[in-house]
Amino acid sequence: MSKIRVTIWNENIHEKQEGAWADLIRSFYPNGIHNALAEGLADDDLEITPVSLDMPEQGLPQDLLERTDVLFWWGHCGHDKVEDALVDRIQKRVLEGMGLVVLHSGHYSKIFRRMLGTHCSLRWRECGEKERVWVVDKDHPIAQGVPDSFVIPHTEMYGEPFGIPPEAHVVFISWYEGGNVFRSGVTFQRGQGKIFYFSPGHETFPIYRQPEVLKVLGNAARWAAQTLPNAKTNCWDCDPATEKVYSENPMEKIDTSSLHKKA
Ligand code: ZN
Repeated sequence: MSKIRVTIWNENIHEKQEGAWADLIRSFYPNGIHNALAEGLADDDLEITPVSLDMPEQGLPQDLLERTDVLFWWGHCGHDKVEDALVDRIQKRVLEGMGLVVLHSGHYSKIFRRMLGTHCSLRWRECGEKERVWVVDKDHPIAQGVPDSFVIPHTEMYGEPFGIPPEAHVVFISWYEGGNVFRSGVTFQRGQGKIFYFSPGHETFPIYRQPEVLKVLGNAARWAAQTLPNAKTNCWDCDPATEKVYSENPMEKIDTSSLHKKA
């Protein structure tokens, strides 16, 4: 069986900043969140490529994008640095069937908002409180092997209302020590592409070192890689009628050939 090709994109900005705050992040992720996730998710059936914004072509040249089955996305303060042309290319690949897993502050990324078409805003609070993640859809592939609930000892609170489309399929809900709740794991389908958003992952806590979190993300990679068989993603050609059309066509006497000429 061929391996699932996972590309993990990280803006990799906080990891290179100065000061105690950045030192703390580097203590958990010395080579960046993308490389930590690549190590944590490493498995025989996955071929993982960690990339970052500071690499040529912002880490995602077209040939890499074309051989990516699932793209992971971690961004925070660098959302605006991502070129719109790259967002266009990623969107096209998702519509063609590439999976997309958006992490934590990636809720405000250009690509997530592009794919969902909503503002994707939420409440937030950063005081190191406890989060309990509950499985809502225990039969979902992303929840397999995940405990009914698990605790993240210190987290950033992301709270409702979350500005995502109403058709979001909820796999996980989080409760926070400070009283808020949040749809912390949700799925969408866009074209042939499967999308999963997972909120845990604030950079100043070692959340991507936690086994339950890595279990969720590994499941997400395998789930999002499955595209629908025999999908037709191109525009249809002019469709021949299945049944005989008896109606008179009022356009018949008008020469419309020029309308169909390609520009
Ligand atoms: Zn955060």
